[in-house]
Amino acid sequence: MADFTEVAHRVWVARYEWFDANVTVVAGDRGLVVVDTHGSTTAGRAVVDDVRRLGVGEVTAVVNTHWHFDHTFGNEAFREAYGALPVHAHEEALAELASGAARVRERYAASDDPHRDDVLATNVVLPTDTFSSVRVLDLGDRTLELVHPGRGHTAGDLVVRVPDVDLLLAGDLVEQSAAPSYGPDSWPFEWPLALDVVLSLTTSRSVVVPGHGAPVDREFVEQQRAEVGIVAETIRDLAGRGVAVTGALAAAEWPFPAEGLANAVTRGYEQLPRSQKRLPLV
Ligand SMILES: [Zn+2]
Repeated sequence: MADFTEVAHRVWVARYEWFDANVTVVAGDRGLVVVDTHGSTTAGRAVVDDVRRLGVGEVTAVVNTHWHFDHTFGNEAFREAYGALPVHAHEEALAELASGAARVRERYAASDDPHRDDVLATNVVLPTDTFSSVRVLDLGDRTLELVHPGRGHTAGDLVVRVPDVDLLLAGDLVEQSAAPSYGPDSWPFEWPLALDVVLSLTTSRSVVVPGHGAPVDREFVEQQRAEVGIVAETIRDLAGRGVAVTGALAAAEWPFPAEGLANAVTRGYEQLPRSQKRLPLV
């Protein structure tokens, strides 16, 4: 259970302990849009209960900011509660969830995580309505802009802009309670550019809701953009100097804890064009 807190006029965020994950509700004349659904059907049912307790209307659409299960595996609970509502996502998020959900289940099946049974009992509900660059959701008295700013945390990230209140839901392109998460599906060189697009959608007064943690301002996003930019340039520099991928993490200073950057380095080395790499010398 978590309480929804109003962060802008008729926009509420609830912060769930598991993964410190944010779920957002945006209300309009045509109902409620829920952005991200948490990490299992059981967890999603708790979100549904919290939305009902908030008492501001019926959910008419779901948005998934990207394919990761802590944002999508609760989709089934919204189907159970509200029927066949549309689930919006970027087209790559659909493809990645369709191919990646089984790996999540395998990982949990082999673990003794307290959420293991809930994850395994979840029927994955795939996004039904996808787009490639931009989609507008018309809620009657307000619109939501879903924008794919390019690849970053995943290949299929989207951000949600609520223009009438200058609010932006950033998904995991921005994280407040931990360092940005570089997974084996991340795009370290493109992430800073995606954040440039995100910044172009904000003002000095914007409220930005990260995928995990407390709402932040534009200055925070600028800072995180600089840091993911340093990660990218450091990887480029190491590869250009012929440092082997296995020694790269230890060979540089990083703006985030190095233990979280193994995938960033591996992905970065894979994604660099051959001309920017030297034969490993060390
Ligand atoms: Zn996440």
